[in-house]
Amino acid sequence: MDGTTKTELRRRLDEERTTLVGQLTEMGVDPDTGQPSEFAQEGFADSGQSTAEKARVLSIAEGLLETLHEVDAALTRMDDGTFGTCDTCGSPIGDERLEARPFARQCMDCARRAS
Ligand SMILES: [Zn+2]
Repeated sequence: MDGTTKTELRRRLDEERTTLVGQLTEMGVDPDTGQPSEFAQEGFADSGQSTAEKARVLSIAEGLLETLHEVDAALTRMDDGTFGTCDTCGSPIGDERLEARPFARQCMDCARRAS
């Protein structure tokens, strides 16, 4: 992978991170802990939202948090130089796959085997 591609992917990961943190904050979930912030808990209590609604929001938040962790891990891998290498077999993940999914940890073959 050349430097330009890497820079571009880092930019996209940074953007993705900002978006995810923004969405979580908006939902009243602390992006660091994954817990509803105190403010949001009050909001939940005041707004009379049903338990089902809270559960729905938290399950969406869980998905966002998972992606956020993947994005963070990808940024860490960029810093330690292992970005773009499959976690499982050590082969290059491939630019095309990384462009579609910048936080992919596995090459296409391993991802397919895992699913
Ligand atoms: Zn692999």
